[in-house]
Amino acid sequence: MPDKIKTNVLIIGSGPAGYTAAIYAARANLQPHLVAGLEPGGQMTITTDVENYPGFGDVIQGPWLMEQMKEQAKNVGTIIYDDLITEVDFRSNPFITKSDSGLIFESRTIIISTGAQARWLNIESEKKYKGFGISACATCDGFFFKNKEVAVIGGGNSAVEEALFLSKLVSKVTLVHRRDSLRAEKILQERLFNNPKIEVLWNKKVKEFIGTKNPNALKKIKLEDTQNKSESEVLVSGAFIAIGHDPATSLFKNKIEMDEDNYIITKPDSTSTNIKGVFAAGDVKDKIYRQAVTAAGLGCMAALEAEKYLSEKN
Ligand code: NAP
Repeated sequence: MPDKIKTNVLIIGSGPAGYTAAIYAARANLQPHLVAGLEPGGQMTITTDVENYPGFGDVIQGPWLMEQMKEQAKNVGTIIYDDLITEVDFRSNPFITKSDSGLIFESRTIIISTGAQARWLNIESEKKYKGFGISACATCDGFFFKNKEVAVIGGGNSAVEEALFLSKLVSKVTLVHRRDSLRAEKILQERLFNNPKIEVLWNKKVKEFIGTKNPNALKKIKLEDTQNKSESEVLVSGAFIAIGHDPATSLFKNKIEMDEDNYIITKPDSTSTNIKGVFAAGDVKDKIYRQAVTAAGLGCMAALEAEKYLSEKN
């Protein structure tokens, strides 16, 4: 028989939103339970230097920050499971959720903080070399390309940060962007343009990844100019795709209101969703700011709103 756990607050996801919600809910005596998911700590665990999370004079490391948040959530009374929620039922309250290991949660409120995942180009040849030269995480895989030439695809903060990070390891980084200007913050752009190891190729999109078979290894990328359609090639051993993220909401499809990009819709100035007692915080509902600090703020809001909801119900 699977274990049944009754709780006031079930938090799904363990990024800055989830842990902050847990800290606030635990300190409000709600004894929250948090299920960490497939990537405990979330996207911050695949970042290195963090210099924009307030409270730290020196640069800190993403994985370290998430460990601290986890410890803090635990120390104030959150029960944390290294497990994955695989089924949710919002049709009646208490809500029923099931986990991969067979746990069943009966919870009076739910805070969804499942975050977002890296987006892929979704071209055929990308699949062939994923894990064999193509990656979506420079801090995880950059080391494998020490002193080699690599490309980064994208023009936002993530792409520029990945390029800057890789430039410390590899011999050359080519940033491939589909337009003629970057979306990244100006301070990051300045660092990028001043880095002698980084070249930017403007108005180019990836047409094909080309490499060897047995063993599968990326050798070059065929590019197409977005303006004059001319083709060119860039010789690289690695390619890092940094073209944004999609919210991790497939579990909630048709169960909660979402927008056309599958972000959970919340009421203005609130984390409440169209289902009373279900709240959403962090990148799963925020397509604009998507910062660790804004996710943490939304996690705090979700816990305060869950507390208010429960006390009004009592
Ligand atoms: P983003 O800002 O959405 O940028 C995605 C980039 O990829 C854009 O330049 C976009 O091109 C390009 N792109 C999208 N789809 C593409 C495709 N199919 N083919 C080629 N290029 C494609 O995503 P992000 O860089 O991951 O950042 C997400 C959010 O997190 C942002 O709000 C960002 O500020 C934040 N962030 C912050 C930090 C930090 O503060 N340190 C670090 C990382 C991320 P176009 O420009 O042409 O649309």
